Amino acid sequence: MEKEPLLMLPGPVPMPERVRYAMMRQAINHRSAEFGAVYADCVRVLKTVFGTNNDLFVISGSGTAGMEAAVANFGRDKEIACLVNGKFGERLFKISQRYGKAHEIGSPWGTPLDLAALETQLEAGAGIVTLVHNETSAGIKNPAQEVGRLARKYDALFVMDGITSIGGDLVEADKWDVDVAIVGSQKCLAAPAGLAAISVSPRAWDRLVKNPPYYLDLAAYRKSAAGKPMETPYTPAVPLFLALQEACLIVEEEGIANRIARHQKMARAMRAAANAWGLSLFPHLDAKHEYSTTVTAFSYPEGIKDDEMRAAVKKLGIIIAGGQDHLKGKIFRIGSMGAVSAPEILATLAATQYALKKLGYAVKGDGVQAAAEVLG
Ligand SMILES: *Cc1c(COP(=O)(O)O)cnc(C)c1O
Repeated sequence: MEKEPLLMLPGPVPMPERVRYAMMRQAINHRSAEFGAVYADCVRVLKTVFGTNNDLFVISGSGTAGMEAAVANFGRDKEIACLVNGKFGERLFKISQRYGKAHEIGSPWGTPLDLAALETQLEAGAGIVTLVHNETSAGIKNPAQEVGRLARKYDALFVMDGITSIGGDLVEADKWDVDVAIVGSQKCLAAPAGLAAISVSPRAWDRLVKNPPYYLDLAAYRKSAAGKPMETPYTPAVPLFLALQEACLIVEEEGIANRIARHQKMARAMRAAANAWGLSLFPHLDAKHEYSTTVTAFSYPEGIKDDEMRAAVKKLGIIIAGGQDHLKGKIFRIGSMGAVSAPEILATLAATQYALKKLGYAVKGDGVQAAAEVLG
């Protein structure tokens, strides 16, 4: 029997049946009350998971389109301070280089950010700060609230990639002074890939650049969203919007507090397994810094080959992620985001434990048991 593998990646993630079925409908007119209601449902729920009362739009395009929209609408020709401690921080820096004068404030991947260096950059006149809240490439959560406080102190805009935190971890965009926040559909929201949502504060609107991009012109999004019915400027990816609506309704039914608690528990179970195995997590963090709530990065022990390990896990029907760029072969990552819960976590950890042992790593103890104790 051919069975679909279980995707335990940091996106895309398995989608609930309701979400998948929503994409099977006949085409609908996107200039209609029917579409307006779909978009309005998405925006209502997304504002709660962003923790914002600001304007919020859904863009047809993956998370990176949301990142580019943020930088292109607010950062063109500006001094941009980019905090980087992983692949996605680097991506925001590269996008910023295309549009403005970008300054990288880099730390090795998976290590805490240098906020003193950020402050220096802000003192020197940076008008906008970019941060990846949950750095998916390294399994570290960055201190968004502190960065927001610093940005506000120097009257800079704060752009936050919340692509793998929003919808799974606590995000309070307004309380944290986030001016522009971004999420992607295929991560914690458990919707199909291809949509991004972006929130925009009044402070950010006041600083809209004079030469915005065309397709990602957020003022055009604002104008269309203010219409009755609510619309997008150009034809949206309607089937994806229908699926996102369903995914958002599922988030609303679960309740965001319950959803965050579920994600936190899964992450604790992952770390309990690592600890029981005697396996190091990739980031080495003291009590002042935080591991990711939605993806866990494990360091490979000496001698375990990435391709062999992930092939052994895949043979059991489960797909986990390796490392990106220079971390390829050095780490593996397990996503625990979206609609998954104890059964998927336990199966994944059992397969991982099996593969580690099979490839010759002497696990210290039973990681599956340790995880079950957290989850049970
Ligand atoms: C996945 C991801 C992105 C990029 O999203 P795409 O949907 O692949 O464009 C950006 N930032 C973070 C933190 C991510 O995990």
